[in-house]
Amino acid sequence: MSKQTIRDKMWIGNEWADAKNGGTFASINPATHDTIAEVASGQAEDIDRAVESARAALSNPEWRDMNPHKRSRLLWKLADAVQMNADELGALETADNGKPYFESRQVDLPSVIENLRYFAGLANKIEGATIPVAGPFLNYTLREPVGVVGCITPWNFPLSLATWKVAPALACGNAVILKPAEQTPLSSLRLAELAADVGFPSGVFNVVPGFGDTAGAALVAHPGVDAVAFTGSTDVGKMVMRSCADTLKKVSLELGGKSPNIVLADADIRAAVRGAITGIFYGKGEVCAAGSRVLVEREVYDDFLEEFTARAEKMTIGDPMDPSTRLGAIVSEEQLERVLGYVESGKNDGAQLVTGGEQATVNGKGNFVTATVFADVEPNMTIAQEEIFGPVAAVIPVEDVDHAIKVANDTMYGLASGVWTRDIGKAHRVARDLQAGTVWINTYNQYDSASPFGGYKASGFGRDLGHEAALEKYTQTKSVWVAVDG
Ligand code: ADP
Repeated sequence: MSKQTIRDKMWIGNEWADAKNGGTFASINPATHDTIAEVASGQAEDIDRAVESARAALSNPEWRDMNPHKRSRLLWKLADAVQMNADELGALETADNGKPYFESRQVDLPSVIENLRYFAGLANKIEGATIPVAGPFLNYTLREPVGVVGCITPWNFPLSLATWKVAPALACGNAVILKPAEQTPLSSLRLAELAADVGFPSGVFNVVPGFGDTAGAALVAHPGVDAVAFTGSTDVGKMVMRSCADTLKKVSLELGGKSPNIVLADADIRAAVRGAITGIFYGKGEVCAAGSRVLVEREVYDDFLEEFTARAEKMTIGDPMDPSTRLGAIVSEEQLERVLGYVESGKNDGAQLVTGGEQATVNGKGNFVTATVFADVEPNMTIAQEEIFGPVAAVIPVEDVDHAIKVANDTMYGLASGVWTRDIGKAHRVARDLQAGTVWINTYNQYDSASPFGGYKASGFGRDLGHEAALEKYTQTKSVWVAVDG
């Protein structure tokens, strides 16, 4: 594996820059507690600089008038550059986030490359329409970039979620300021550097690392930013939306989830167990779409629980760089405390702790929690309602398919969902009735650059991925009227 290239400054106008006040914050490896880097901590004045640079890029003919084929090629070249540096980027992601290297390298990085290529394909296919209007007029539409897009990302899939936003925004001709999560800024900084290497002009793609209430809030409030694409918690999402109102920014929010994974009695139970295990334990459960509520029809409940628990116990904790590790380190001590707090809450509310729920270390270090299964969870318990963002499954018995749908929909969230059944009619009926932006039938955690992803209800609005969603978010439509001889 190649050595990681660690960048610790802000990236503005294709140059490294310190924060104006010289402030930094530590980016910490959660598996060892080592400080990987002291990273420049962006403040409002640094966001000002980034906005200035992005606005200049928008009016720079090199970017404004770049022909779409070239824009497409640049994104494709960035994909190639990421591919060439995939080992290094994977190691960086694992060091910063704590997830197993095999997840970073074999799942996240391929999807990052695919996203860049998918949106490279969009750049030269952005078309308006000619509209049949009344009167002696030619009416047509132009799809133009929105302008400067502020992208705010969380710490669970730092690089992948950055490309969910940055790739379509650039494909559509915008300029971008990315504010990565303070826990995991490193891969985004490296991505921006690679973008400059392949030829993106200065100011088109800027990265300002820093905290949410400083760099993040300043980015959202800045009058020179035209749109905000946010992924994070529901509470912060509400604040972001309120702030966007002041400057009438276009905003899209991909927020939390408490996704139900429904196992009906006629399912292939072994497949359902496997799907439910990856559904909740992939990425340490730090996944917005995690299948954190496992709803199991009573008839198969005992059999399912036995097999599910046995498999959960095989989710071994270990050094994230070790290929046999299945559960990496929880991203931060704060998050560790949060997860352990929910374990206590589950016990106090009377749910049955079947396995896990323990804090652990590897070589005496790191923030680890064993794979945790609560059984006999009541739908109204805190662990069945609130997003834990950790390796904690709440298994809930349900009486039949109607009951399953009722319980599944009975949360404020609506991000994703799953159903396991051999009955095709039932499967589609459940898919129709679930209030969620994604439904997985007899599978879980499938993503593709071409398939839109986003929430219902308190899980937000606006979609990432897919070409329609990209055009909706990252372009605005101009209607042009031309008088013709009548
Ligand atoms: P999580 O629970 O995943 O940490 P957050 O919503 O706290 O979710 O963080 C997601 C992203 O939002 C991070 O990049 C964080 O810095 C940013 N953020 C947090 N608070 C604010 C805020 N007030 N304004 C803008 N961005 C914020």
